[in-house]
Amino acid sequence: MIKINLRRLILLLTVSTALLTLTYTFYASYRTQRSLLMEQAMETNRAYAIKLASSTDHFLADAQRQLAYSARLLTPLMDQPAQLVAEADRLQQQNGSFNSVFIIRADGTALAASPRRPALTGVIIDSPGIRAALKRRQPMISEPYIGASGYLLIFISQPVYAADGQYLGYVGGAIYLQEKNVLHSLLGENYYRDGSYLYVVDQQRRLIYHRDPKRVGQVVADNPAIEAVIAGQTGNLQLVNSQGTDMLTGYAPLRRTGWGIIAQRPTAATLQGLDGLMLDVLRHTFPFFLLSVLGAWWMSRVIAQPLSRLANTAQDWDSPHAPEQIRRVRSWYVEAEQLKRAMLAGLAKIHQKLGRLNQENITDTLTGLVNRRGMQTALAQWQAEARPFAVIALDVDHFKQVNDQFGHDTGDRVLQYLARQMRNGSRSNDLLCRLGGEEFCMLLPDCSQETAIGVAERLRTRIAATDSPTGTPITLSAGVSHWPAGGAAVETVLKQADKALYKAKHNGRNRVEAALS
Ligand code: GH3
Ligand code: MG
Ligand code: MG
Repeated sequence: MIKINLRRLILLLTVSTALLTLTYTFYASYRTQRSLLMEQAMETNRAYAIKLASSTDHFLADAQRQLAYSARLLTPLMDQPAQLVAEADRLQQQNGSFNSVFIIRADGTALAASPRRPALTGVIIDSPGIRAALKRRQPMISEPYIGASGYLLIFISQPVYAADGQYLGYVGGAIYLQEKNVLHSLLGENYYRDGSYLYVVDQQRRLIYHRDPKRVGQVVADNPAIEAVIAGQTGNLQLVNSQGTDMLTGYAPLRRTGWGIIAQRPTAATLQGLDGLMLDVLRHTFPFFLLSVLGAWWMSRVIAQPLSRLANTAQDWDSPHAPEQIRRVRSWYVEAEQLKRAMLAGLAKIHQKLGRLNQENITDTLTGLVNRRGMQTALAQWQAEARPFAVIALDVDHFKQVNDQFGHDTGDRVLQYLARQMRNGSRSNDLLCRLGGEEFCMLLPDCSQETAIGVAERLRTRIAATDSPTGTPITLSAGVSHWPAGGAAVETVLKQADKALYKAKHNGRNRVEAALS
């Protein structure tokens, strides 16, 4: 199985965390912005609906006040046709509240009309508004209805009473809902920006004002905002309107008539700017994201480095440079430091053990001198260093007889005794070897053949003069050679020493012979 390394793992973890955070932040900010925009639009619409409801209420109250004033003026004039016509004209033309004005007698006969309509004057007019006003004999605002002229209109009326309380008739003004008039300019004023618009419904859910004149008069069913507003509530809602458009609406009722004003803006138009906004957010966030990824990349390096370097060294465990490499690792946090220490301690222990094994491997157990393998290692090194040396080959004379006479154990002690004597007569960097049996060899680095002959001679005389463990002295014969004598190979030089030793034996033992170089 392929294993991912620590550094990539850290990088993966941090980058994916950063990415997740970025995505989540982006999403959360998108949701927040979106609901903020929608709430703002709905709130604006609600405030606008409230303001227009109150303005329209004021307008209607104002229209009623005008009619009330006129009704008082008309009390003594109801039988003076010219004055009635003049008053109707004044009312209709003075401030443009009404599309038409009528003065009606208690029996329903039209006494005056403005704009003037001779055909209507003096006859009984039969229309819902006029009938209702006659019946109620009170100030009133009619439900919208289609008048004789074919227009959708509302009729506002004020009764005229004589001083004795007798009902004389009334004065009334019609406002045509599809026509230009004060109500229109009040409602329609510059509210068509960015897809926003408003409409007005009456208690029967009928559109009495709409930016599309063709829709005026239609009844709209199943619109929750209309249901709420004709129940007298003020508020806002998100809804899908009868045209299938998702809308953000605010609504407020007219206190005076029970109509409702609904201001709305398509949700899509409201959220149009959101994409740009979010792109902006992304543009501002991305550099930080990039920076944190760079930071994570750098940190992953710094964190992983000590461990990966320790791991690399562990692969190369037996290299002689391993301890130095481990020591150089900058372990700046606890775990790396512990690991480093443990590795160094482990390595030291192994090297110690190896050193001991090695030592045992090249040591002769009986005498403690270097064995043949040790000698060969030293020779190879000196040869590589081109370090000159002298060889003294030694052999105990008639050793067999020592064994025979005194036993093998004494023989062993004699060998140990000889080793001690060899040590006493040599320098610290001389290599003293036992090559097997009772054959010994001394390797003297940086030593001439003459000096070596001197050393061998001294050893021989001392042994010959000293009692060995047998109780009497033993004797030895020695052969001396030198490297690099005449450029001969190391093996040749060893053989030359053996030859010289053989010569010493041949010439009577207890003597030193030098190889001829
Ligand atoms: P020479 O003067 O010709 O060297 O006579 P020598 O008796 O020494 O002859 P040789 O070298 O043939 O004999 C060596 C003897 O050393 C043979 C063996 O019994 C004895 N020997 C070899 N190794 C050991 C050892 O480890 N301990 C003891 N005690 N004796 C050993
Ligand atoms: Mg021998
Ligand atoms: Mg011998």
